[in-house]
Amino acid sequence: MSDCLFCKIAAGEIPCDKVYEDDDVLAFHDIRPIAPVHFLIIPKQHVASLSECGPEHEAMLGRLLAHVPKLAREQGLAAGFKTGINTGRAGGQEVFHLHIHVFGHKA
Ligand code: 5GP
Ligand code: ZN
Repeated sequence: MSDCLFCKIAAGEIPCDKVYEDDDVLAFHDIRPIAPVHFLIIPKQHVASLSECGPEHEAMLGRLLAHVPKLAREQGLAAGFKTGINTGRAGGQEVFHLHIHVFGHKA
């Protein structure tokens, strides 16, 4: 998606403060953190929101979520953290490229 902010970040066209990257997934710090540690994890493939997902997205969704505990620990959140997926305008979503918020306080 040429006009999608997170696709541009995933493609390296817009810089980010990277937490993790592999062929399918990118994690980076939120530009306006709501907690001392706040990062986002996204699929590199464009998916607009969770409401677009179905059974065909099962592997991608599982992969995203499965990275969260290790990345959270590495960011100092071993004691616990919050996760969230805002979905749709009424759900507070501002960037229409699926992302999981991970945030919390270092212990
Ligand atoms: P949403 O409300 O869509 O769930 O959250 C979008 C998040 O993306 C917000 O927390 C916002 O601060 C973050 N964000 C928006 N633009 C950028 C950007 O250019 N870089 C980074 N790293 N985060 C962004
Ligand atoms: Zn996108």
